[in-house]
Amino acid sequence: MTLTSKVLLAMALGIVIGLLINLSGINVEGGFTHEYIVGGLFDIIGTMFITALKMLVVPLVFFSLISGVLGIGDIRKLGSVGLKSFGLYMLTTAIAIATAISLAAIVIPFFTASSITGATFTEKEAPPISDVLVNIIPDNVIHAFASGNMLQIIFFSILLGISLLMVGKKAQHIAEGIEVMNEAMMHMVNIVMSIAPYAVFALLAKAVAELGFDLLAQLVVYVVVLIVALLFHLFGTLMVLLKLFSKLNISIFLNKIRDAQIFAFSTASSNATIPVTLRTVTKRMGVDNSVASFTVPFGATINMDGTAIMQGVATVFIANIYGIELGIGGYLTVIMMSVLASIGTAGVPGVGLIMLSMVFVQVGLPVEGIGLILGVDRLLDMIRTSVNVTGDAVVTCVVAKSEDEIDLATFGDLNAGLIKSLEIDEESEDTLAKVVHKVEES
Ligand code: ASP
Repeated sequence: MTLTSKVLLAMALGIVIGLLINLSGINVEGGFTHEYIVGGLFDIIGTMFITALKMLVVPLVFFSLISGVLGIGDIRKLGSVGLKSFGLYMLTTAIAIATAISLAAIVIPFFTASSITGATFTEKEAPPISDVLVNIIPDNVIHAFASGNMLQIIFFSILLGISLLMVGKKAQHIAEGIEVMNEAMMHMVNIVMSIAPYAVFALLAKAVAELGFDLLAQLVVYVVVLIVALLFHLFGTLMVLLKLFSKLNISIFLNKIRDAQIFAFSTASSNATIPVTLRTVTKRMGVDNSVASFTVPFGATINMDGTAIMQGVATVFIANIYGIELGIGGYLTVIMMSVLASIGTAGVPGVGLIMLSMVFVQVGLPVEGIGLILGVDRLLDMIRTSVNVTGDAVVTCVVAKSEDEIDLATFGDLNAGLIKSLEIDEESEDTLAKVVHKVEES
């Protein structure tokens, strides 16, 4: 069985066990299942796994970006990769939210405002857009790395890569070392990914066990419209864009992106999924690291099609419940705000709702309305994060194709980059032991 099949099986099993726990009603606070199984075992395994993925993100992005800059050949390419990916990320987000608003505006008003009341939401501060720009430059590199500030890490790593190019020949050994570290980090991704079946089972069983099905039923219009809009974007808009701009085969893409989607779904975090997305586009789809090392972490930070779709549908839904007319101007403001908001939003669970409050303030919708959809957000967050990550991969492929930085043979080979065994061969052990001993002796 391939790893993907194992993870898919684990996912299904997790959903079934989660459903059993949820529907049997044994997951009550203070009870054994709640304390030791769902909040204990499942939580521990799931959290350890997500932490392990997050552990990989900063060093992986650092080494792969520097090696990407060193391997790009012509440094001017960096500017064109940056511009193209930024433009495409903004374009896909704008299309996403525009379709979401249109769909929601047609469907939702058919269902009269329901009588859901009583939910509360404490508004959190969303960062102003000007801050986002200024903050791309780290005032303290160690702090940027320690806090995992992705845009700052990208900025510094690219600058360091360019500076190493300026050093020239003397930097050769460092360049080789960085390349080796990049390869080692990729192996570390393989190690962490290989425990995914157990972790994905635990994450899904926990999420489903804790889902409020009664809430889902109450908010069925919102949930259904949102899921339809997300699926439409995933299988419709994004695939049309992929075909149109890159002529790559859609079914191969969908087959290979599955790993990244599953990881995004289970972790609800584009950031934690960066290692898997990066591995998928480079090893499985054949995108050169010089493009992917930039577009993937960049996309995980600024590109959130799924989140924008949620914001569009939520705006229409809540405006409708409160009986507030937004009009064309209001909706245009929502589109603009959501696109801007997605730039400053980190790819972590639940952050889309925080940014939604910023959108609401701009168009004059009651922020406490967000409380109404809070209860069902966990499941929707998982789905929209998969859409976010797929968007990152589509743009990465399109940009790579236009720069002629994708190996089409690898893309077309369904077995390319599949994780097989994690064994270390005796020859490597022997060679490296000899190297270490030689250095020690000298
Ligand atoms: N969880 C999403 C992500 O990581 C962001 C959000 O919509 O809350 O991409």
